Amino acid sequence: MTQSQTQRFSFSLEATDGKARSGRISTPRGEIRTPAFMPVGTAATVKAMMPESVAATGADILLGNTYHLMLRPTAERIAALGGLHKFMNWDKPILTDSGGFQVMSLAGLRKLSEEGVRFASHVDGSKHMLSPERSMEIQKLLGSDIVMAFDECPALPATEAEVAKSMQLSMRWAQRSRDAFGDRPGHALFGIQQGGVTQDLRAQSAEALRAIEFDGYAVGGLAVGEGQEAMFGVLDYAPDMLPVQKPRYLMGVGKPDDIVGAVKRGIDMMDCVLPSRSGRTAQGWTRRGQVNLRNARHQDDPRPLDADCTCPCCAKYSRAYLHHVFRAKEMIGGMLLTWHNLHYFQELMAGMRAAIASGTFDTWEAAFQIEFASGDIERL
Ligand SMILES: [Zn+2]
Repeated sequence: MTQSQTQRFSFSLEATDGKARSGRISTPRGEIRTPAFMPVGTAATVKAMMPESVAATGADILLGNTYHLMLRPTAERIAALGGLHKFMNWDKPILTDSGGFQVMSLAGLRKLSEEGVRFASHVDGSKHMLSPERSMEIQKLLGSDIVMAFDECPALPATEAEVAKSMQLSMRWAQRSRDAFGDRPGHALFGIQQGGVTQDLRAQSAEALRAIEFDGYAVGGLAVGEGQEAMFGVLDYAPDMLPVQKPRYLMGVGKPDDIVGAVKRGIDMMDCVLPSRSGRTAQGWTRRGQVNLRNARHQDDPRPLDADCTCPCCAKYSRAYLHHVFRAKEMIGGMLLTWHNLHYFQELMAGMRAAIASGTFDTWEAAFQIEFASGDIERL
């Protein structure tokens, strides 16, 4: 491979099975196998995990949050210290969100205009502005490999007219994001489809984004409390409106069964705080569903969380130990269970990639659904 080829961002679709797809995103910082799950490293860390441990779970890429990093320690400081990869000691690809969603959910005193969003920091009350141009600047300062266009996600519940107006604003911001991003070989800019749960608005949004041309496309505005049925309802048609030859990213999803359903409907990339957040609150995720390690039934149980899991938590520690360290509020509880959860999520993705490649996704999914609904192993 020549130097110029290795420096390009590209996506190759390797196999399809029904609507499910498997492939590979190539970046100068490494390859991302798809379908991909991206752990969330909000404040330049995947909480409770060393970066090499995140990589050991099988993660090819992680997500950083523009909103958090711009406020603390600031994008300018991170840039002066060599960029986000160096700052947090993660040399694989990083995707950053645009800050748009979190400014609407976390910041105070927000004022939305055509220009962007003025807001007060939730950390210290300081005043800031996020616009398409400022979001592109921050994500460039961070050194993000995959940059997200700046968009607006309307607060729910919203009328169809409000969703339409918001989507149209987001499409104008998408064009401004594209213009501000410029030409950056090796870096990608993704557009974000909006339009709520209305098929016609989703189509209009997809058409606007396709006209602008992005390196990848996200399905935005889902996983905001609408429920799995409504989300799958949109995913039954929304990914089909996006270009076949570009990666499709579903933001903020989700539980294992949400992820499987999204991949089945043609999604290639996902991110969620669930495995890491659950890991810190004693909630384990296994092939048999969710397990609460605080439950007294684990107190004398010498068995691992999942006997078939190859993660360090399951290889060397018992349910009784996990129960104890969570009860005693010891940090290792969150460390071990986050590791297990991230490992499980990556195994789930690997299982789907293999099933798609061999044309057996339906069989794989049926077995997943039965096992996932079967509940935890019998108590001792
Ligand atoms: Zn495990």
